Amino acid sequence: MPHVITQACCGDASCVYACPVNCIHPTPDEPDFGIAEMLYIDPSTCVDCGACVSACPVGAIVPGHRLPETAARFADVNAGHYGEPATDEARFPVRAEWRLPMAPITKPARLGGAAPGELRVAIVGSGPSAMYAADELLKHREVKVSVFERLSQPFGLARFGVAPDHESTRSVANLFDEIARHPNITIALNTEIGRDITLDELRRTHHAVLWAGGAPTDRPLAIPGVDLEGVQSATSVVGWYNGHPDFADAAPLLDGERAVIIGNGNVALDVARILTADPDRLAVTSIDLTALASLRDSAVREVVVAARRGPENAAFTLPELVGLADGPARVWTDPAELAALDIPELHDPEQAAKIALLHEISQRPRPAEPFIRLAFGLTPEQILGDDRATGIRFRRTVGGEPVELSAGLVLTAIGYRGLPVPGLPFDEADGTVTNRDGRIVVDEAPLPGMYVTGWAKRGPTGFIGTNKTDSQETVAALLDDAQAGLLPATAASGSAPRRFGRRLAAR
Ligand SMILES: Cc1cc2nc3c(=O)[nH]c(=O)nc-3n(C[C@H](O)[C@H](O)[C@H](O)COP(=O)(O)OP(=O)(O)OC[C@H]3O[C@@H](n4cnc5c(N)ncnc54)[C@H](O)[C@@H]3O)c2cc1C
Ligand code: SF4
Ligand code: SF4
Repeated sequence: MPHVITQACCGDASCVYACPVNCIHPTPDEPDFGIAEMLYIDPSTCVDCGACVSACPVGAIVPGHRLPETAARFADVNAGHYGEPATDEARFPVRAEWRLPMAPITKPARLGGAAPGELRVAIVGSGPSAMYAADELLKHREVKVSVFERLSQPFGLARFGVAPDHESTRSVANLFDEIARHPNITIALNTEIGRDITLDELRRTHHAVLWAGGAPTDRPLAIPGVDLEGVQSATSVVGWYNGHPDFADAAPLLDGERAVIIGNGNVALDVARILTADPDRLAVTSIDLTALASLRDSAVREVVVAARRGPENAAFTLPELVGLADGPARVWTDPAELAALDIPELHDPEQAAKIALLHEISQRPRPAEPFIRLAFGLTPEQILGDDRATGIRFRRTVGGEPVELSAGLVLTAIGYRGLPVPGLPFDEADGTVTNRDGRIVVDEAPLPGMYVTGWAKRGPTGFIGTNKTDSQETVAALLDDAQAGLLPATAASGSAPRRFGRRLAAR
């Protein structure tokens, strides 16, 4: 039985390099790599050697004969990528004209000439993009990396974003732990750049500063009623159930029978799953214990995940929908509502597969409570209520008739957004630090020694592994500049770094 890639795949492509027969695609040098929702094993060429299993940082690859029932569909999802038979011509026709790439893909640069540990690089943030950048930099013995993280625990959204029931995905922390054990890296926790240390201090004491601070806020929804009690962002609920210190007071009101989530990306599905999960199942995960206690008392019987557009534009990914449909969650979509939508014929096979699965879900009996209902074509108009939310009024996106749903909790999940960083140029349009290929630029001119990666660089798109190629691009630019002598030469020389280390320890 060939091996199969399953839901947890975060697209870092480690398996591609481990496979002796090149049967995992798309590879980083293929055009569809940047737009694929996961990677796929070609069952007709896999020789079942198992090399990819140990390469995968999140345990996403399973020998076909050991696929659990809940992941059985992934055998078809993998094979479906290659068509039948698996020829190059039949191979997965997802094309760049249908989707935007999630991250750039480049070959890393090489560094030579400097003495060991001579090139000092500061990285702000310790999320996936920071750790992948550190890993890339640490391949060069000339580089010493100092990571600065504002929280008391590292790894950003890999720890505080990924849902607690996605244990395989969360195990990527083991890879980051491994990177953090390298002798040429230090990580200073509880250290916020801009509060405890200024950006200028970092620039004075390092040859290069790499900003990997993420996209820390959610996009606001501008409709009447969003300020009512019982309305909050899905981001805050994620932070709350994952024990993020900024969201300790963000407990959602769980005393109503229905919750509505506006937006249908993977984060919306995460929150819907956690709000409807059996608390005993959550108890064995890393969920915050205060959150778990509240979930045990929850009165929520139905979580409606409401999207403005139709299933052809569903924001959630195919692996997440498969996991929802075949896992322990109870999910349903109203067949009448689905039939009323005018779903166009699709070229994109991943989107087409989502629609086929949604039709299958709609044919199931309405599940026992609490359950998740996926709803489409609903444009939110107003959150109803005097002091607190009691419901929400939508308008059908096509047709325009009003639809009212009672709800004691309304969550907005329409995406993340970066915040301006004092001292760095900011692109208002897409909420990113202004950059070209990872070099921070002001009026198109690079700011010497200043770089950016991850969500702060490209905006909140892609998966954990997407940050790997993104960080490789930024590090390649940094190393090219180092080779070309373009980094500020005096910044990290003399006793300045030692004095900086002493000041940091004192603070
Ligand atoms: C709710 C949620 C669930 C997700 N689930 C999955 C999933 O299941 N699978 C998957 O593949 N991807 C998932 N993702 C996507 C993935 O988490 C992101 O692609 C990835 O975390 C982005 O990495 P980053 O390093 O750019 O940002 P982040 O992970 O946000 O890291 C930024 C870090 O910088 C720190 N920081 C910010 N400002 C400062 C400062 N001034 N000083 C010091 N430190 C600072 C922050 O505290 C944080 O630790 C999820 C995303 C979200 C939001
Ligand atoms: S089991 Fe071996 S041949 Fe099959 S995909 Fe993994 S590495 Fe490639
Ligand atoms: S997470 Fe990485 S190594 Fe694992 S299957 Fe996906 S691309 Fe391959």
